[in-house]
Amino acid sequence: MKKVGIIGWRGMVGSVLMDRMREEDDFQGFEPLFFSTSQAGQDGPEVNGTSYQLLDGLDASLMLDLDVILSCQGGGFTSEIYPQLRDNGWHGYWIDAASTLRMESDALIVLDPVNRNIIEQGLSSGIKNYIGGNCTVSLMLMALAGLFEKGWVEWVSSQTYQAASGAGAKYMIELIEQMRLVGENCQNLLDDNEHILAIDKNVTDTIRSHRFLTNQFGVPLAASLIPWIDRAMENGQTREEWKGISETNKILGREDNPIPIDGCCVRIGSMRCHSQAFTIKLNQDIPLADIEAAIAEQNKWAYLVANNKEATINELTPARVTGTLDIPVGRVRKMNLGDEYLSAFSVGDQLLWGAAEPVRRMLKIVLEYID
Ligand code: NAP
Repeated sequence: MKKVGIIGWRGMVGSVLMDRMREEDDFQGFEPLFFSTSQAGQDGPEVNGTSYQLLDGLDASLMLDLDVILSCQGGGFTSEIYPQLRDNGWHGYWIDAASTLRMESDALIVLDPVNRNIIEQGLSSGIKNYIGGNCTVSLMLMALAGLFEKGWVEWVSSQTYQAASGAGAKYMIELIEQMRLVGENCQNLLDDNEHILAIDKNVTDTIRSHRFLTNQFGVPLAASLIPWIDRAMENGQTREEWKGISETNKILGREDNPIPIDGCCVRIGSMRCHSQAFTIKLNQDIPLADIEAAIAEQNKWAYLVANNKEATINELTPARVTGTLDIPVGRVRKMNLGDEYLSAFSVGDQLLWGAAEPVRRMLKIVLEYID
């Protein structure tokens, strides 16, 4: 029976992965082994009635007989352990949620509803490294892949509204703490039905107070936003913005002939759904009905939301989408800029399609391939 090592299973992405694997009854037909970099020897997860003891995730020699390793542990782990394994002659399949190996020439970025053909070619040509994409990029492609497939896209500009979860669990907790402080501080004013300007001043004073909790984000996110994600690139983009063009074109197999993609990535106070407003320059005047059909037909998770208030506020929000695999695409319309300019808006759970789901599905694809 094939052996699959799973590491990072107790982190945020890993927990979502484990939930999905249990939900889909994925733990069949292979022997799972669970690793931890900090809890070796302790009890690991229980799967189908079997309790697993944790193996040492920092001991690469324990992994040399594995057929597949699936890591949601993080980039530090990948940088340390992956080279040791390959240097010691390990030829297994490496599936990873971390970005470390994404742009390497011997790795593919996986999002099988969009690039299954590239994954299949990779498997048959002997590629062994399959890496989940950046959350924002994967969610954009789940929404818009139909337009890319038709060859209609000249360029895309994407303005993002990204959830706290993209930064990690500690950041999600800090956002809630910030919200609590804001609410608690103005509670009496709300109860006494004070004038709105007094309430507003109270909120402003709270978030500007030097005592306001900002250890993770560095600045307030509650009652505010942060138009910067990840580190600076030399051209003025953030790395999150740079991933838009680099990863999208790698996923689509277009690195030699890239489609320009750029935008501004912004952190907002939603929990785990990223939203994006797209301006899409089409290379011809495509009728709106054809555009809508292409989006809705590309995969079974993307669907159209009618461009009216009722449908939009009920369907096209993080509150509606969180915890689901749904990819609603709405506000689809031609713009005043011209008939070749399209506007659209999409929402997706960044821990599901943005992180855990592509690697969960890749594990199944690899296991079927090597069976
Ligand atoms: P995380 O929650 O920090 O978990 C990573 C690992 O930290 C765990 O598997 C665990 O490994 C260790 N850990 C230490 N203390 C822990 C605690 N109290 N609770 C749970 N785990 C603890 O990281 P993550 O957000 O899941 O991200 C994992 C990887 O996925 C990263 O490379 C990240 O860049 C990538 N990714 C993240 C997202 C996202 O939205 N967060 C999206 C796409 C990709 P040990 O058992 O070995 O100690």
